[in-house]
Amino acid sequence: MAVSLNKVLIVDDSKLVHQMYKILLMRYKNCKIVDAMNGLEALEILSRENDFDLILLDINMPVMNGVQFMEKFRENGRFQHIPVIVISTEGREEDTLKMLKLGAKGYITKPLKPEMLHSLIEKLVGKKGEAEQ
Ligand SMILES: [Mg+2]
Repeated sequence: MAVSLNKVLIVDDSKLVHQMYKILLMRYKNCKIVDAMNGLEALEILSRENDFDLILLDINMPVMNGVQFMEKFRENGRFQHIPVIVISTEGREEDTLKMLKLGAKGYITKPLKPEMLHSLIEKLVGKKGEAEQ
């Protein structure tokens, strides 16, 4: 299925992870990718541009972590329409539940399986892609 993914915000404190996600997102041609190294940077980017189709979010980050980011994210009505997928090494159930309660639409545990990411993207963004065809 062709999914129209136009713009993605990657929030992770590892540059290597950013590169890895970029490779995984290459199948969505023309997709623009914006990098944020922590939650605060992500909020700053979102305050300027809120036309993202998807946010990929880490939990463990300096300055502002994923949980703190989600708390601020859900307070702001301007970007609540953007689906958030949490990708974290934290496999603990309480963190998963917390992030989902805070509004995350999906949760994947690292090491990331590409097919998990792609099936979540199709589920969360796919409908829009179908309508555009
Ligand atoms: Mg991290």
